[in-house]
Order: sequence, then C-alpha cells, then structure tokens
Amino acid sequence: MSLAPLPLSSKVTVLRGLGPARAAALQEAGLDTLRDLLWDLPYRYVDRGSLRTLDSLDLRGFESPEVGLVTVLGTIQDLRQSTTHVQRMALTEALLVDGTGSLRLIWFNQPYLGRTLKVGDRLLVFGTLAMGRHGLEMRGPQFEIMDRGGDIGHRDSGLGWVRRYLPLYRRLGPLTGRVRQKLVTEALGRAHITEDWLPLELGRDLPDTLTALRLLHEPPDDSEALALEEGSTPAHRRLASEELFAFSLGVALRRAGRLKRRGLVVETSPELRERLRSFLPFPMTGAQRRSFKEIVEDLTSGRVMNRLLQGDVGSGKTLVALLSLAMVAETGGQGALLVPTEVLARQHAASFRRYLGDQATSMQLLLGGMKAAEKRAALARIASGEARYVVGTHALFQEAVAFHKLQLVVVDEQHRFGVKQRESLKEKGGDPHWLVMSATPIPRSLALAVFGDLDQSVLDELPPGRQPISTKLFKPDSAERAWELMRRELAEGRQAFVVSPSIDPSDEGKVQLRDIQAMEALLQAIFPDERIEVVHGRLKADDMGTRMARFVAGEAKILLATTVIEVGVDVPNATVMVVDHAERFGLSQLHQLRGRVGRGAHRSHFLMISGSENERLQTLVETQDGFRIAQRDLELRGPGEFFGVKQAGLPRFQVADLVRDRSLLLRCREAADRVLALGLSEAQAEWLRREQARLKLAEIS
Ligand code: ADP
Ligand code: MG
Repeated sequence: MSLAPLPLSSKVTVLRGLGPARAAALQEAGLDTLRDLLWDLPYRYVDRGSLRTLDSLDLRGFESPEVGLVTVLGTIQDLRQSTTHVQRMALTEALLVDGTGSLRLIWFNQPYLGRTLKVGDRLLVFGTLAMGRHGLEMRGPQFEIMDRGGDIGHRDSGLGWVRRYLPLYRRLGPLTGRVRQKLVTEALGRAHITEDWLPLELGRDLPDTLTALRLLHEPPDDSEALALEEGSTPAHRRLASEELFAFSLGVALRRAGRLKRRGLVVETSPELRERLRSFLPFPMTGAQRRSFKEIVEDLTSGRVMNRLLQGDVGSGKTLVALLSLAMVAETGGQGALLVPTEVLARQHAASFRRYLGDQATSMQLLLGGMKAAEKRAALARIASGEARYVVGTHALFQEAVAFHKLQLVVVDEQHRFGVKQRESLKEKGGDPHWLVMSATPIPRSLALAVFGDLDQSVLDELPPGRQPISTKLFKPDSAERAWELMRRELAEGRQAFVVSPSIDPSDEGKVQLRDIQAMEALLQAIFPDERIEVVHGRLKADDMGTRMARFVAGEAKILLATTVIEVGVDVPNATVMVVDHAERFGLSQLHQLRGRVGRGAHRSHFLMISGSENERLQTLVETQDGFRIAQRDLELRGPGEFFGVKQAGLPRFQVADLVRDRSLLLRCREAADRVLALGLSEAQAEWLRREQARLKLAEIS
C-alpha cells in the first residue's frame, strides 16, 4: 500500500501508530509537525563496528577512560537492589549475558532503576570498564532498552542492525526511542519537500533538505562516526543553515522595521558636548570617545537607537552611559537607567551624584523597597519631568510609573531582564532609544543570537594606569596560603571580599545556606578580631543596603557574600577577593567578580580555592582579557549556561549550535540582508512565519 506524500508542515498525527498518549508526548516536547519531528536528531549513534562481545572485554590497552568506553549488547539475567553498608546508598546490580560471557553492571543512588529494568530486557550499554572485586564491571553505565521480555519478536524489524549506525532517540514520556525511530522512518518515507529556502550562496555544496534528513536519521555505512557525533557533516550544516538563515532573516526584518520608525531627535550642540565632558574628572579613553560618538550619532539621526555597549569589566561603560543620559537630560528629555539590583541602583545613583555636582537634584532613584510616601514623591517627580535622570530596578516596570518625556533607556547587565519587562518599559515613553550594556564581554555570535537587531559599540581599551590583578588558584588543602595573603592585606589597612557559592533561589530547602554559613564560621575562626559583614540574595533590600554601606564605609574589613556583589560594587580600598568552590562558577562570572578588586591604587589579588576543574580555572590565571575568557566560557559551557539560568530569549534551535556554528551564523546574517534587499516572496514570507513561531523568535529583542 502506498501512502500519500506529506508536506513537512503536516501534523505528526497523520503518521500511523500514533495514539493519543504518544501524540500528546510529542506535543509536550514541542514536536507538532513532521518538520519538528524530523529536525529532532538522534542524540547518539551507535557504531555497530564498535560493539564488543562480552568475552572480548579486558582492561588491556585502556589506560585512559576515553579508550575504555565500550558498547555491549546483552540480556539481563539477574537483577538485585540493595543498600551499601557504609554510606547507605541504593545499589542496583544487573548481570548482563550475551551468549559469549557475562558482565556485572552497577549503579549507585538510582533506586528507580529497580523499576525501570526487568530480567529479560535486552540492553545496549555504554560505559567504562573497571576492575571490581568480582572481576570486570561497569559502574553507572548509560543504557538503552532495546527489547522487553515478551517483545522479542519485533527485534529484527525494529533494530536496524543491518546498518552500521544505529540512531538513538530520547524517550519522551510513554514514547520510547524505538517508537520514535519508527515514526521517523515513516515520516522520511512520506515527506515531500519541494522548496529550497536557502539562498544559493549558503546552499551550495550542501545536500538538499530531504537528503540531509535521511543522512542523519539513517546514516549510510560509510558516514564518518566522528563527524556524525560532532554534528559537523554537510547534512548537519544544511539543517543548521536553514534554522540560522530563518533566524537571521527575522532579525533583519525587525531591524528594517526599526529603521523605518521615526526616532526622537535629541537636539545636541558642540557646546553641550564640551560642557558634558567638563563634568569628568579625567580624559575619556579613545574607546569611550568613539562609543559616545556612535551613540550621539544615533540619538540625532532621527531613527530609533538600539545599541549594545560592550566592554570588559572596568572599561568605563557606566561613564559612557552617564554622558548619554546627560545628553538627553540637558536637552529637555528624560533618561532612565535600569539596573538588576538595588545595591547597584544605589551605587550608580551615588556616582551620578558625584559627577553631576549641582545638577544632582535632577536625579531620582526608584526602588521596589521604598516607603509608600517616598515612592509617591518619586513618581510625581518622574511624571512632572522634574526628575531628568531616573535610576531604578524592576520597580520601573510597574504600571504606576509614567514619564513626562522618556527619550533614552539604558539597561545595565541587560541579560538579567526578561524581554517582557523590556517591552513594558517601551510602552511607557512612546519609542525611546535603547542602550544596552553587558556586564562582561559577550562573543559576537552569541550577542547576535540573544540581542538580534542591535548595533554594537565596543570598549576595547581600559583607562590608563590599571594594574594587573595577581590571580592564583589554590587546592583546598593549601587554602591557608590564601588566608595568609588576605591577612597581610588586612594588616595594611586594606579590605577583602570573600565569595561563597550563591543561594539557589529555586532550591527552597534547608541546606542552601550551608556554604556561606560554614564560611562565616571559618572566617570568624581565622580572623577573630575583624568585623565581618555577610550579604546574600535572601536579605531584605534595606538590610542588604545597610550591611553593604558598613563595608563601603570601611567599618567592616571583610565582606562575605554570594554573587550578589558580582555586579558593580565599587570599593577601591578592597584589594583581595577569595572565591571558595570556584569550580561552581562560570569563567565569565569569575572574571566579573575579579573586576571588583583592582579599582584603587594598590596592587590587588584574586584567589580561587577549588578542588576540581583546575584546568578550566587556569584560564583566569593566564589571561585578564574578558573577550578571550568569554569565548572560552561559551565553548566550555554552551550558550544557555553562559548567561546563567535566568537567561531567557535564546532562540530554540534544534540542530544549529551557537558555538559550533558561529561562523555559519555570521554568513547567514550577511545573506539575510542581501535577500531582504531583494524582497521576500509570499512563499518565503510564509515559511519565515512558520520558522519564527517554531524558534519562538517573537520573544527576542
Ligand atoms: P564598567 O562599568 O565598564 O565595569 P566603570 O564605568 O564602572 O566600568 O568604570 C570603572 C572605573 O574606572 C570607575 O571607577 C570609573 O570612575 C573609572 N573610569 C572610567 N572611565 C575612566 C577614564 N577615562 N579614565 C580614568 N578612569 C576612568
Ligand atoms: Mg559597570
């Protein structure tokens, strides 16, 4: 029986053998159409050539774990659950047999395995061999259930062992990987693709879409195992290019839309610019001058500015932001600076006051934690236009906040704000200009992906006279040396930060304060005569403010904190920072933390204590170049983690990978501009709408 060909936009429910429960599982995972199903590639390919019989296993030649990774196929003959004597951990043991021999598999602390696995299950097992008390064994191997006891009859039809590569799909609820494979096979057999959406310059040398899908779901025997695994085959490039091109086209469209809007023209003059510069106690760096010029050009262009100001920690972004705000304020408009925490808001307000001198009365702070009367007065000043510089936290998003003439919004540490919050502020003042500052440098490909339609100014130069920060890494058993160094600095009258891993707000349990409390006890023991202030994200804003103020004023010499101090805190007398459990932080985050010292005339020290991941952390010892650190961080942790858990708004690519495919993304961006200049056909526009919905692009800038 031959079935009708299906366009990729068909719902998955057209496939046979998809009951309501399975259809719901696909839906849940966002796999609605054949397109979605087929772009969801296997998470792994088993190379049958690497499959070993159990009698052939031994430890010889397996000096490194990489080499020791083997794949075996067998049946569970025996299964036991017990508890270890010493540590009271759940222990699951299975005996795997394959007709040539047997192998013991063990898992710790995964009691549910006792329910997942059954005697008689045929398992495909991946893991490293180890020598146990009873001979060879595998500890904590990964596995895939290939067949269940009564099910053996299907083995030949489903397994595809005639091929060299066996694709494995993630289980989705009741939908096993095996069933998914069958659905994919049917979809591939019936899918019908007529259009090619890639411009010639991108599609050249790549297989067409359907061929690419076949190559990746049913890899021919001569495929390269490594390229398949890494996602670097031409077939991967075809699918990734389609995603990245759709994304780029969407961004280019947005940009074209923005450039058509009439922007508020800020009436500046050379005299005003001169006067603003005279506020400053020091000459601007070349990079600051250039960035400020780019911003002024935008503000006077009659178009709406959307600009990212990038720069390493301490490169002087705040100063550029202040000048831009002043430009607006001095010509009769209002500017708002949006920051992620109240600590930071207060601090920016204080440094603005310093710079503004007599003009400081035109500055208004707006915080969530304000008393009612105080807040009412603040809102009135903002609404009347009396407040020309407004510095605030998310309180600025509240509906009650009305501006008199909002012309410029500067967002500090942008990625902590959700897109929805940004939108709500946009609604408050017609169509203000946007300047976004990133806390640490962001690699270009990632900036494109996250911020989409943004122009960039880069501060690639530090103000003169900065001393490099001496950076050292200590194993926990030599932490004494870090405390010794800190003791010396304190004796010289300097101050110190100590950072413990942060309290995870999603983990509302009892254990989460442990790290910081243990550290407080330790510090009290080591420095019995010093006053220690402790701050963390659980404190009420005014409590936090008071504690910080005591440290800033020098009343306390030691500030023990979670990463709440990561952003912005400016205490020039602080010359040491000790970070405990440094392995729990991202490189960019550590670099940002390091930027809290080295702000004064004295030589500063950044000391990390860590018992693991020392190779990664070594990057910080080797370089102080935030752009290099950011790139390395991105490569090691991937884009999601790069920004931390709060980051929303990354496009949801199924195949494309922002690290691996970064040069592809840049090419797609250029191609998108060219294609857009020619105009989109109706069919292209329709395709783009579908793709954008799939990537959830509406949520991006
Ligand atoms: P960022 O926000 O980029 O981390 P800041 O704007 O906080 O950096 O500036 C870091 C420090 O450098 C501040 O103390 C600031 O006063 C100082 N600074 C900024 N620009 C200059 C400059 N051109 N010359 C000297 N010092 C500067
Ligand atoms: Mg800053």
